[in-house]
Amino acid sequence: MLGVHGLNKVYTGRGEPVEAIADLSFEISAGELVCVVGPSGAGKTTLLRCLAGLLPATAGDVRLAGQAVSDPPTGMAVVFQEYGRSLFPWLTVAQNVELPLREKGLPKARRKELVRETLEAVGLGDATASYPWQLSGGMQQRVAIARAAAYEPQVLLMDEPFAAVDAQTRFDLEDLVRSLWSRLGVTVVFVTHDIDEAIYLGERVLVLSGRPTVLLEDVRVGLGDDRSQLETRATPEFTRLRTHVYELVQAAKRGARSVTDAHLTH
Ligand code: ADP
Ligand code: MG
Repeated sequence: MLGVHGLNKVYTGRGEPVEAIADLSFEISAGELVCVVGPSGAGKTTLLRCLAGLLPATAGDVRLAGQAVSDPPTGMAVVFQEYGRSLFPWLTVAQNVELPLREKGLPKARRKELVRETLEAVGLGDATASYPWQLSGGMQQRVAIARAAAYEPQVLLMDEPFAAVDAQTRFDLEDLVRSLWSRLGVTVVFVTHDIDEAIYLGERVLVLSGRPTVLLEDVRVGLGDDRSQLETRATPEFTRLRTHVYELVQAAKRGARSVTDAHLTH
């Protein structure tokens, strides 16, 4: 579904060039939920922007269903961290969700149906006529997720979408992402710096090195499909994965560029 081959990204502009991505290659199959973790400044957002066609690669390529991604493809939706800036304050919640569906050219009846369904799915069935600024941060982020889900993308990209909400809301939103993912069968790439979040959500966790980034390890998460915040996080497998990924990220911060560099104790 999504293929990254020899991706390299160097920012050029005023001042010194900055190599954010050294060399990344990986494949994500249709319907997978893959998380990406790495130290701050590793190049995670850069990677996501390249996947979304918002930033041109310096070398290598990104392919969506075999087609090279250059401009933002119609089959992709992106949810960013700054929900406050991603919603239009002069549109109601329902109008915000409906806008991309108009751009997609869907008939009115279908638009109304999708808006109602997705807002109910994110627990905002009663807030359709509210304006974003009347809602809490967690509710605004739910609107952004509903808008992305209503669009029925093939691929949903999320960049630290829950970094600015409180811990309890964050758990709820994580469960919301997993339930939307299993219901819609969408391919999800979820970037986070939170190791526990990556393991709880993902079927795989791609662990990135520090900048300029390479893939340190592609970690399989064998936690099954039915996950719950209390039980899953208390399992031995969750603890094992958390320790392993934590050590990789610590090694990445010390400059490790491969698993052999990382000198793991687990
Ligand atoms: P992350 O999301 O993992 O924290 P980013 O992808 O945002 O990392 O940034 C990776 C590196 O690229 C950082 O060193 C950052 O300063 C640099 N960078 C990001 N955007 C730009 C830009 N537009 N111009 C120059 N350098 C940038
Ligand atoms: Mg980032």
